[in-house]
Amino acid sequence: MNRTTRIIFITLFSIVLLPTLFYSVYEITSLDETEEMLTAVYSRQLDAILFSVNQYLLDVSAGWASQIEQDLYWRRYDQLLRSNPSIQSIVISDTSFRKFGIYPFSRFNYRKFFTEQREKVDRLFRYQEVSYRKLEPVIVSDSLIILLFVPSSAPHRIVGIAVNTQRFISDVIGRKLSELAQNDFILAVVHQTDDKIVFSTSSTIPGDFVQQRQLWIFPDHVVKIKLQGVSVQEIADERFKRNLALIILLDAVLIFGAWFVFRTIRREMELVALKSDFVSNVSHELRTPLSLIRMFAETLEMGRVKTNKKKQEYYGIILHETERLTRLINNILNFSRMESRSRKFNFSSTNVNDVVESVLSIYAYQFEQLKFRVETVLDKKLPSIMIDDEAIAEALHNLIDNAMKYSNDEKSIRVETSGDEKSIIITVEDHGVGIPHEHQAKVFEKFYRVSQGLVHTAKGSGLGLAIVQHIVHSHGGTISLKSEPHRGTTFIMQLPISRM
Ligand code: ADP
Repeated sequence: MNRTTRIIFITLFSIVLLPTLFYSVYEITSLDETEEMLTAVYSRQLDAILFSVNQYLLDVSAGWASQIEQDLYWRRYDQLLRSNPSIQSIVISDTSFRKFGIYPFSRFNYRKFFTEQREKVDRLFRYQEVSYRKLEPVIVSDSLIILLFVPSSAPHRIVGIAVNTQRFISDVIGRKLSELAQNDFILAVVHQTDDKIVFSTSSTIPGDFVQQRQLWIFPDHVVKIKLQGVSVQEIADERFKRNLALIILLDAVLIFGAWFVFRTIRREMELVALKSDFVSNVSHELRTPLSLIRMFAETLEMGRVKTNKKKQEYYGIILHETERLTRLINNILNFSRMESRSRKFNFSSTNVNDVVESVLSIYAYQFEQLKFRVETVLDKKLPSIMIDDEAIAEALHNLIDNAMKYSNDEKSIRVETSGDEKSIIITVEDHGVGIPHEHQAKVFEKFYRVSQGLVHTAKGSGLGLAIVQHIVHSHGGTISLKSEPHRGTTFIMQLPISRM
């Protein structure tokens, strides 16, 4: 990357890419903030619901405790037990846990239970001393929980309400949860260890719950919440994903755009450099034959050449240099027509072999002078096809010129025609300097000349192959090359037999 390209790259980077990146980062973080806000709203909602559920549970159990306390003397708990099926039994014990009343009778070993809960019971007595009737839930098993309290009317008794967990959850908590959930939320009580849903306000639960909280009375159970239908979380997730995709797409388009602009500018700059090389190359190409023509014409004019053979030789050189000049000027004119898309082709039925032979005959003298071995293999069975014979001859001229120009000591050229039912192929093969692999795709570009790697001193305009390619494409054909550095190059021109 040279200095100017670097400056363009840095400018594009700072004008387009940096602001885009900043914007993207800002957008992504703000999306995150929205998400956090929604989660916080959710969290507060669940807190409010749970506060209400826990409050309700406290009220219900405090109500039971009060009813039990009122009837402590007569112990008529039938009504309470009937209207609250989740209560399995009520037990009343003295402080030594020796005397029990169990309503209705149960085989449960309360003595053992109370003894184990001694610490909790003592604490409840201490609370009662300061007139605070606290209810303490004790989990006995998965299906049994015992609520302990010390009645204020009988501070030397300890009361236990044995509650069936499942029934309590579905009857008492469930009722309250359904009332709170209405049609807006799905609320469920879930057993924490095995993640089993014990109760849910909806029979189907689409997606996951988003928040959860501990339940006061059942510490191994949690209440979970989600929105009925699509959750806020899902909406937020969806929105986040959509916005992220949009930002990525926008970034990709901008990056692609910046890269495209950068590439175009770089290409233009390369073209400008190539054009300036072109001007110096063409000036040289024009000057060399002109000075040769001038020099030999002057020598002849001064009458210094004595023998006829020498004169003939000088005339030959002048003719050859004139042809070279004509071809160069024709190339430039045709290139300019090609660029302005004004070049017209005149198609007529022609046998390609005739064109090849006529072009090769023009080179006969030059081949001999420069000691080129030329092998011509023509497929005599080729049909005539619709081509512009002058244009194809021009293409061949360029290929043969190059084959000669880029040959070193191994001066041999092979020209072959062949064909199948679809196309006719003309190949021009040399054993010259070859084209390095990294340049092979580029040699057909206008002004392009191989300057690195295999340095060749041959002068040229860099237009020849661009013109060849234009001519071949205008015939609906293709041009390709095979080349190995130091081994030689083969150009393969393929022309379709019938053109659409
Ligand atoms: P130029 O006027 O430079 O020959 P062309 O368009 O004809 O322009 O060719 C482009 C470049 O491709 C040449 O500069 C040369 O480097 C390479 N090239 C073309 N033909 C051959 C060949 N037969 N052998 C080796 N290199 C070739």
